[in-house]
Amino acid sequence: MPGRVISFHYKLTNASGAVLDSSEGRQALSFMEGTDQIIPGLEKELLLLKKGDKKKITVPADQAYGQRDEARLVKVPRSKIPSPNVKIGDRFAGGQEAHAPVFVVTAVTENEVTLDGNHELAGMDLTFDVEIVGMRQATSEEISHGHAHGESGHSH
Ligand code: ZN
Repeated sequence: MPGRVISFHYKLTNASGAVLDSSEGRQALSFMEGTDQIIPGLEKELLLLKKGDKKKITVPADQAYGQRDEARLVKVPRSKIPSPNVKIGDRFAGGQEAHAPVFVVTAVTENEVTLDGNHELAGMDLTFDVEIVGMRQATSEEISHGHAHGESGHSH
């Protein structure tokens, strides 16, 4: 059934059980099916559930944020970095657009800065404890925009 908007609460843990993210105390996360708003391995499982269902879903890295790619480690001259006090852990957007990749500084030498463009969850198997709290047909406006609107969706 295409064009549903599904809202869910989640707790995200890594393979050793550490909590990486959670919607606890926030609005549920909403997405429209088939629009790549959430990772594919999670969407596939959520589409099989119905409102009120709770499930623990483990998504292998390949179905989540992919494997780490060493080609996404780039070294740039320190003079190209806008911040004079650049340090390990600093984050830079790779462009102006909203979904530009984020680069994290992983090494700093006198002349060079190493930036890691891998998603911070790349290479990880992820476990989501989910609860479906809403499921409805998308509106024609949502379908034309290709994303969920409303209370906990996207707003313009
Ligand atoms: Zn919209």
